[in-house]
Amino acid sequence: MTHFFNGLQIRPISKILHIGQREINIISKFLVTGDLVIVSVYNKNKEERTFHFLHVSDDQWKLIEDTSGTLCVTVYGVRSENYQVVVSGQITLHHKDDNDTIYMLSMNNHTQRTTSLFHIQMEIDDFDVEIRQNVQTTNLQTSTIEFHCPVTRESPKSYIHMLKSDDGCEYIREMKHESDTISCQWNLQSRYKYQYKIFHVKEASTVIHKYMVKSASKCLSFVTHATKSEISELFNLAEKFRAKRLSNRRTTKTIPVPYLYRNKPRNHETIQEAQRTGIMAKYIKDNNGDQSSSINNQIHGLFFSASACKRTKMPPEFSYFGDYRLMIPPQHLLPNLNIYFADFYCQAPKRPHYVTLVLTKPGSVEDVYCSPRLPKLNIHSNKFLYYDPHIGYRVTKACHIECLYTEDINLTSMREKIGVVETNITNVRGRGQSRPEGIPKYEHCEDCNLPKK
Ligand SMILES: [Zn+2]
Repeated sequence: MTHFFNGLQIRPISKILHIGQREINIISKFLVTGDLVIVSVYNKNKEERTFHFLHVSDDQWKLIEDTSGTLCVTVYGVRSENYQVVVSGQITLHHKDDNDTIYMLSMNNHTQRTTSLFHIQMEIDDFDVEIRQNVQTTNLQTSTIEFHCPVTRESPKSYIHMLKSDDGCEYIREMKHESDTISCQWNLQSRYKYQYKIFHVKEASTVIHKYMVKSASKCLSFVTHATKSEISELFNLAEKFRAKRLSNRRTTKTIPVPYLYRNKPRNHETIQEAQRTGIMAKYIKDNNGDQSSSINNQIHGLFFSASACKRTKMPPEFSYFGDYRLMIPPQHLLPNLNIYFADFYCQAPKRPHYVTLVLTKPGSVEDVYCSPRLPKLNIHSNKFLYYDPHIGYRVTKACHIECLYTEDINLTSMREKIGVVETNITNVRGRGQSRPEGIPKYEHCEDCNLPKK
C-alpha cells in the first residue's frame, strides 16, 4: 500500500537490521528513500554508547557491535534535507535471548517520550559549553550561534549535534570541525527557545559510519536573540504606547530630568566596594525584561533611572531597591555617549511599563556589541529621553525610563562635581533589592510584546 507524507510518496519499509548475530526487522510506514537511519546502541554491561549512520537506500543495514551484553537499541528515521527525526522506535536485546530470535521493531511517529534525543542517558562526565550569539555583519537580519567546547586533541573533531525546538521537533546530525569553536548547524529562528546537546564522538570506522561517544555536553537551553530590526519594531510599539498614553493630556508630555539615580542596599557588596575604592564598578546585566534581549548576561553596566516623580519632579522619596542612592545630574553622564534602545516591557498586568536604554562610550566593548544589535537613538530627537537646548534634559511621562550606563563610575571625581548627591533613603519598600536573576517580561501584555512566532 502506498502512503503520502507531506506530498512524498511513501512505501512501507520492512528491512533487517543486523547487529552482530542478532537481527531486528524494522518496519515503518513513514520512511522515504532519501531518509537517514540513525541507530543508537547502548551496551549496558560496558556502559558504552555508539551511533551508527545508515541510509534507507543502503543494500543492507549491518552494525558491528559486541552483542554479548544487554543492548538498548534506539532507531531514528531522519529526513536528510533538514535532519528532523520523523519516526523512532526502541528495543532491548537481552544477553540471555536466543541468538536466532528475529526481533520486530515498528517505527512510530517520533513521540519524544522514551525515544527523545534529550533522554539519552550517559554514564560519562558532561562538559560545559559556552554559547555565543554573533550577528552576521553582511546580513544584520541573521545571527549565528557558536558553541565553545573544551579543548580536545584530535583533529578533525567529530560531534553529534542534537536540537529540540520549542514546538517539540527534534533534529540530529553529525559534523566534523577543525577547532573547538563549533557553529550551530541549523538556521535558528530569532526570539525562539531551543534545547541543544552536543556529543563529542570518535569515529570508530569511516566505512561503516560508527561513532563511539566520548563525552557529552550538558543540555543547553537558550533563547535566540531578537534581531536589530525586531528591536526596531519593539521601539515602534513603545512609541505607539507613549503616544496613546499621552494623547488626551493637555499638560506637558515630559518632565525634566533633575538626576539619573540608582538605589542599592548600603550593605550590598558593590556599594561597600565602591565606598572602599572610590570606583563603582559595572557588572553583568541580569535577565530582567525581555527573554530574547541580546544584552541579557552579555554586557556590563550600572542601571540608572531617569524618571522623576511626576508630582515633585524629583526622584521618588521611597526606593524598592535599597537605602543607598546615588544621584547624578544628567549633564555629568549623558554628553558624548551613544544611546541605544534595548527593551520595552512590563512585569505584570496593569503594572508600569519600562523602556531600557543603553548608554555607551563610542568605540567601547559595549558600544561595539550594541551597534549591530540595537537601534541607535538621537539624543536630540527621540521622545523618551532627550536634550532640548532651551529646556534641558527631558523624559517622557508615559513610562519609566531606565538607562544602563556601561562604564564604571569614578565616585571620587564625581563627588567633586556640582549637584552629585549620595543619600540615605529611609522609606525602603518591597524586598528592598532587585532579584539577582531579574524579573522576566510579562509575555501576555499586548502593548509591549511583538507577535509570537
Ligand atoms: Zn506590557
